[in-house]
Amino acid sequence: MKREKTLQVYLGSIAIGGCSPVSVESMGRVYPGRVEESLNEIHAAALVGSDCFRIAVPDEGALSGIIQLKKHSPLPLIADIHFSPVIALKAAQAGIDGIRVNPGTWKNQLQYHQLIERLQAGNGVLRLGANTGSLPSHLQKKGRVEALLDSIIEMLEVPQKKDFHRIILSAKSTDINETIEVYERLADTFSYPLHVGLTEAGEGFEGIIKSTIALGTILQKGIGNNIRVSLTSPNPILESQVAVEILRGVGLRQKGIEVISCPTCARTRGDVVSFVKEIKEVIRLISSPSPLKLAIMGCEVNGPGEAKEADLGIAFGKSTALFFVRGKVIKTVHQQDALPELIKQLQSMISHQMEKE
Ligand code: SF4
Repeated sequence: MKREKTLQVYLGSIAIGGCSPVSVESMGRVYPGRVEESLNEIHAAALVGSDCFRIAVPDEGALSGIIQLKKHSPLPLIADIHFSPVIALKAAQAGIDGIRVNPGTWKNQLQYHQLIERLQAGNGVLRLGANTGSLPSHLQKKGRVEALLDSIIEMLEVPQKKDFHRIILSAKSTDINETIEVYERLADTFSYPLHVGLTEAGEGFEGIIKSTIALGTILQKGIGNNIRVSLTSPNPILESQVAVEILRGVGLRQKGIEVISCPTCARTRGDVVSFVKEIKEVIRLISSPSPLKLAIMGCEVNGPGEAKEADLGIAFGKSTALFFVRGKVIKTVHQQDALPELIKQLQSMISHQMEKE
């Protein structure tokens, strides 16, 4: 898959665009004035693979919160600001890594000039994000894709006149086909890096499937530098995990541990479903410097053969678990000892990787 080359910008410590890997953004649920809770969300998102974090800043209390968070956050922060240019100006002044501005909710031209000047004076990034849910009123008679694109074009006039190019673009729709079309056209028209997302994808598996189709298709076309999955969920963990798996699925994220597991069938010799849940809980807390594939298979008949590509795996036998490394059986343990043994083998594999580095 050939990637569309864009300009590269630095959002805090991470590079977005150019040759840099596609990164994951997730978004906070907690009001940022509740600094400790908000920080916990950021850490949780970082742990499951998020690279940057967006926070809604609806008022001055939230602004004080995000300024506090900036001092402690392990991830670069983007302040998501609507209707309040004054808060956007203050956030830019405070050195928040990125300011998300929505063409449909920004009315003041003078303050937009001031915002660009403030970003220009520091290191801040302008994240220009249009959304079908908040299209500017004068564009609403147009088709939604045209309106999204035109709203971006209009908002680019001021930064381009000022020769300010630390910009990331996004234009999100709730519709999969519109989202794919608009990102194709953004990639054809602009050289700025693109943040890709399907807005308001929904809850549970419907939201996950819709996001996977839209983002997977766009990424497969070589488009997109940063992604967010927008799910109705109480915290940003699931959306971060889904985004990471989408990247992994299209071969754009190699780091970390990937778990492959069989669907189970009448031949299954152990509780694969519970075992997979337990090992996934454990590996959430383990970081691997190189990509590792872990296979959990329900029987010894097809286990090692089906998972030849896995670095490490187990296949359940009659009250036993066979351990295999790249398809070759290395030992057999009782099923009740399988989880601790798998963790031990995994840690030893990771230690070897680290020694080699
Ligand atoms: S690995 Fe064994 S238990 Fe799992 S689906 Fe295949 S045949 Fe069934």
